[in-house]
Amino acid sequence: MSALKDRLKRLIAAAGPISVADYMAACLFDAQAGYYTTREPFGAAGDFTTAPEISQMFGELVAVWAYSAWKAAGRPMPMVLAEIGPGRGTLMADMLRTLDRLDAGFVTRARIAMVEASPRLADIQRERLASGRGRPTWFCDLAALPRLPLVVVGNELFDALPVRQFVRTARGWRERMVGLGEDGGFAFVAGIAGIDPALLPPEAAEAPEGAVFEVSPAREALMDAVATRIAADGGAALFIDYGHLRPGLGDTLQAVRDHAYDGIFAHPGAADLTSHVDFAALAHVAAMHGLEATTTTQGQFLLGLGLIERAGALGAAAGEDVRERLRGEVERLAGPDAMGNLFKVICVSRRGVRLPPFAAPA
Ligand code: SAH
Repeated sequence: MSALKDRLKRLIAAAGPISVADYMAACLFDAQAGYYTTREPFGAAGDFTTAPEISQMFGELVAVWAYSAWKAAGRPMPMVLAEIGPGRGTLMADMLRTLDRLDAGFVTRARIAMVEASPRLADIQRERLASGRGRPTWFCDLAALPRLPLVVVGNELFDALPVRQFVRTARGWRERMVGLGEDGGFAFVAGIAGIDPALLPPEAAEAPEGAVFEVSPAREALMDAVATRIAADGGAALFIDYGHLRPGLGDTLQAVRDHAYDGIFAHPGAADLTSHVDFAALAHVAAMHGLEATTTTQGQFLLGLGLIERAGALGAAAGEDVRERLRGEVERLAGPDAMGNLFKVICVSRRGVRLPPFAAPA
């Protein structure tokens, strides 16, 4: 048995069931055995492939968005260009290269910040960005960033933050907990205490037994921190992730290992554990700060920023094999049956500031 599995079982045996959020936090971020602390999650040799790892065009278009956000904020300098949860550093590398072409000098005048919770991944990012333009600084927390206008991006960050789950039982809604089954393995159990109905959506009243609802205080807290900074210091934020634009019931907790679905309890610390992001909840948090929050699908976002045109430009001087590869990348990033519809985008800016591709046509 893995050391983490053993530790969690002993904890539950001694102190009782833990929340799904605590289970998820231990599996992902445990200092000795957590997934992001110890593993190499990304790419063909890892467990999953993310958009920046699929194509350089993703980071190029996010750079175009970031540059527009900076211009719309009145071109403040100094400013901070930050990424939260940069994984292998590929998105920032593609962004810095593109920004340097858009505006020579921008990447040396801006303060480039990498916000990364995992020291091991921060080392990988340092190596990745060592030879490129710009001199990033690493932070383990958004709160440590200098108080300056902030343009911040994050891809597949929110899905990795823990969720709490509630389940409808014969005795009403209860928190869904991780306990121990009769065989000694992990099992979902219903919490003892009733829960505050204000946490549940209206359709919860009619939901059948077994229905599940998810909330993520950790995600909302991170969005709250981002929105607080943008409201106070100016700037904009862009987050991309899989999830839904409208809130709803459903159990979306999933484990992925070696590019295949895994049992939630099968490999704690050795499988990625995520859930779908509720974009409406994030937009609500931003709106509470008086900010503009716009959401759309990844497909609409990338196509609106010129994905097809960029692929055409890259392919124009290249051979048929490269054009074929680019067509495949466009399909994976924006195709409705690939990432185009499943992945969503939220863009947060100051009230009245509409950023591309959301800007009303002139
Ligand atoms: N953005 C990358 C990696 C996505 S995986 C890509 O698209 O390929 C999630 C990343 O977020 C990892 O780098 C993980 O260590 C980091 N992370 C998770 N929670 C975080 C937090 N609260 N603050 C900063 N980084 C976090």
